[in-house]
Amino acid sequence: HAKAAGRGRFAIFGKHMDDLLQGRRKMERELRAAIDKKVQIETVYQPVYAADTGALNGVEALARWRHPKQGVISPDVFVPLAEELGIISELGRIVLEQACEALGPYQDLTISINASPLELSSDAYPLHVLSTLAKFGVDPDRLEIEITESLQLEEKSQAAVAIATLRAAGVSFALDDFGAGYSSFGRLQNLHVDRIKIDKSFIDALSPGDSSAVVQAIISMARAKGLQTTAEGVETLEQKMVLQSLGCDALQGFLLSRPISRVELHAMLDRPRERECL
Ligand code: C2E
Ligand code: MG
Ligand code: MG
Ligand code: MG
Repeated sequence: HAKAAGRGRFAIFGKHMDDLLQGRRKMERELRAAIDKKVQIETVYQPVYAADTGALNGVEALARWRHPKQGVISPDVFVPLAEELGIISELGRIVLEQACEALGPYQDLTISINASPLELSSDAYPLHVLSTLAKFGVDPDRLEIEITESLQLEEKSQAAVAIATLRAAGVSFALDDFGAGYSSFGRLQNLHVDRIKIDKSFIDALSPGDSSAVVQAIISMARAKGLQTTAEGVETLEQKMVLQSLGCDALQGFLLSRPISRVELHAMLDRPRERECL
């Protein structure tokens, strides 16, 4: 009896696994098709503001997958999938093109994009980025590429060459999610960046009664190294005020603005008074 029940359970478990696998395969096919045909991938833009004046510095471009049945799928889901499928470079190209097209004419605004370590390691990356900038009339010094500490940067590796080439052309780099991993401080020694983006987990901790010592230490260290700082995930007025008093350079978060569509962005930029948030 027990054996029979056991088999039954396995049969049910097996079917469930089967469904999961089929769902996954289907999603893979759909993502490939979306990226291939350049459909359903829609870049949204989150404003980044100067902490002291409240002026709009620029925007971070963030990818969205508008799935016809499942609605908007998060990049936390489809970016790792695109990496596994070997199509992350194509995704990156779509986002860069959309962002340059949307922001090209706004000469005073910086465009930040996220680059996967795999993308940076592809031979074609630096020249492709520079030619896209040229195509849309975006000066390279308006582009900032956000990288993460998971990037393994061996000397003379393709990624090191890409970063050097792009830096020489005027593109700047930011270390994203700073402090979230195990080796952030160590990575700063060999990743040449211009800015660190302080991970949201540290900003969350800036609540009444909690100590701001860690964020303060990160900002002082950045200043000592001549790096700019951006706080990610600012959600409360209290956090904003603490960050301003600590001398953080730039602020990004739902308190100031959520990521917005291209249409909303243009509406905002065409009303100059709204370029300030504080
Ligand atoms: P990230 O680069 O660290 O981007 C910041 C994430 O925090 C975004 O999530 C943004 O919507 C969210 N965020 C901003 N302010 C707040 C806030 O105040 N509260 C909360 N709760 N969240 C906030 P999103 O857009 O879901 O992106 C997640 C991650 O996916 C990004 O983290 C980035 O690592 C990756 N990603 C997004 N677009 C791309 C892309 O085009 N290429 C690559 N390679 N990765 C991307
Ligand atoms: Mg980022
Ligand atoms: Mg981040
Ligand atoms: Mg993140």
